[in-house]
Amino acid sequence: MVTSSFHKRFIEFCELNSHCRALELETGSSLNSETLNSWQETLDLLKDCYQQSRERELVAKALVDPYFPLSKLRKLNVEQFAAEPKFADLTENVLAKIVAEHLLKWTEIFLSIREDLAKLDRTGQVSGMGLTGSPNENLPEAGWCDYCGGCCEIRGGPPEFTGSFAPPGRWHAYFSGDGCEHQRFCPFLFEYFASSKFFCSIYQVKPKCCWVFDRDECEFLQNDVAREQARL
Ligand code: SF4
Ligand code: SF4
Repeated sequence: MVTSSFHKRFIEFCELNSHCRALELETGSSLNSETLNSWQETLDLLKDCYQQSRERELVAKALVDPYFPLSKLRKLNVEQFAAEPKFADLTENVLAKIVAEHLLKWTEIFLSIREDLAKLDRTGQVSGMGLTGSPNENLPEAGWCDYCGGCCEIRGGPPEFTGSFAPPGRWHAYFSGDGCEHQRFCPFLFEYFASSKFFCSIYQVKPKCCWVFDRDECEFLQNDVAREQARL
């Protein structure tokens, strides 16, 4: 694995990806060939940090998906990783290796959920939206929620899914936090076109503990975050 340049390539891809996705949302159509080429080149550079072709394929396939939660990964698993006490003494290269391996694992989990949803959710009864990948498909109306995804920044919870819904077996491990070592947010949290708007990909069947989180809890969390930011 090329760790020395991983961080730089990852950030460059995040930046360009946000720009390209914003253009897609603005125009409601695909990117022109010039923009698409530079986006692809940046993705190729990131992908080439990985040695095995299977790894490169996973990274490429997940990162071209308009719902891959790249901004959340960047914030929690790249930028904030370095500030966590357990990683504080690591060299840049060792940290980059952990981050790169985590990104790879997250692509695998994300694609497996995408695959499950494609089989289970042909009419949007699990997600609450069609997940068509089109910039013309809007996020579902969320009322007072602004899609910050803060309430889904969890390392795991009890996987008691709603009602009679029988989820694929691996979803229990994913929600519990057993899907990978460095989970910092829920694997079912997707991002809408790199816009830092996050949504629950299994909204209609989400676990019981997620339904308990309502407007009061949200306000409490937002105040807590604001207090923490003011302290820094
Ligand atoms: S923390 Fe509140 S505003 Fe943010 S996603 Fe959760 S419910 Fe919505
Ligand atoms: S299941 Fe949905 S609502 Fe619950 S933590 Fe995960 S993404 Fe958030």
